[in-house]
Amino acid sequence: MFCVECGNEGPLIGPLCPDCYSKKHVKATLPEFIDVTVCAHCSSFLIGERWVEMNSIKDAAEHMLRASLATPEGLEVTGVDVKLDEMDDRTFRAAVSADLAAGEHRFRRELSATVRVKQASCNECSKQKGSYFEAIIQVRGDGRALDAVGVEEIQRQVVARVAAIRTGAREVFISRTERVKGGLDFYLSTIQSARIVARELQELYTAEYGESPSLWGRRGGQEVHRVTFLVRLPPFREGDVITCGAKDYLVRGMAKGAVRCLDLRTGEEQRMKHKALEGCALACAGPDIATAVVLVDGDSELQLLDPDTMTPVDVVKPKGFVLKGDNVRLVRTNLGKYALSDDW
Ligand SMILES: [Zn+2]
Ligand SMILES: [Zn+2]
Repeated sequence: MFCVECGNEGPLIGPLCPDCYSKKHVKATLPEFIDVTVCAHCSSFLIGERWVEMNSIKDAAEHMLRASLATPEGLEVTGVDVKLDEMDDRTFRAAVSADLAAGEHRFRRELSATVRVKQASCNECSKQKGSYFEAIIQVRGDGRALDAVGVEEIQRQVVARVAAIRTGAREVFISRTERVKGGLDFYLSTIQSARIVARELQELYTAEYGESPSLWGRRGGQEVHRVTFLVRLPPFREGDVITCGAKDYLVRGMAKGAVRCLDLRTGEEQRMKHKALEGCALACAGPDIATAVVLVDGDSELQLLDPDTMTPVDVVKPKGFVLKGDNVRLVRTNLGKYALSDDW
């Protein structure tokens, strides 16, 4: 077989020998200038119509160079090697080696281009700068409830959780946080992320939880809703005495959305869910529980010296009562007075 161009004998690509084919058809080209659009606020780059997170400007430039490499039909690009030379912080000189193949014949072309880095604001950052939000988490608690947990702690929790969710979903962010009377408002970019965070706060602080959607407006013919999540912190915490209905309880623990309570009359422990806690009120805060001297340790009753009046007072011993020393904690509520066992 002879090449129609030079007449040399040997393997041919179509009617041409590899040399003539290479001269005539292997023509890889790059535009003189390649623009890489980077978000000025985050590490994302505009690739086609989409903003994509990339590790570096170099990665983005390589991606754009590969995508811009033009080759005639019948030639396959098997490898691209890019070397970038920084001219200034906005311009790179790119030396590109392109490995090409036509059947089993291999070719290489050396090309160059200038990469220009342009700054813009990606969709998500634009939203964020524009205080975009789809959901509000309202954390509420009466003065003491909020003080107990601490505004800073709640803020830290929410910020940390949103940051964690954002690593897998870059559209998630807090667009603003407001300190309001009786609590905190967090404005979040997505309803789903707000729900996750609100549910976690509910669990963590044994709080009351609620969702209320509202029609916000229309976008592209679609109704757009915003959702407000209410997380109401309970007005008591571990170590407090609360009154529920006709009973007084010592709060022994709060976890997993329920409160572990001890009936002060019987000494029996029980778990109460949120619903059961509605209408419960703080009777005596843990730090306000008094200590009284035990005068007489009887079989079913104790005689104590009331620290307020310095007069003797009789109190029924609850089931399983343990006295370890000469003093006992004494609780007084509207319903009665109780001695707290030393192992509670
Ligand atoms: Zn030839
Ligand atoms: Zn951005």
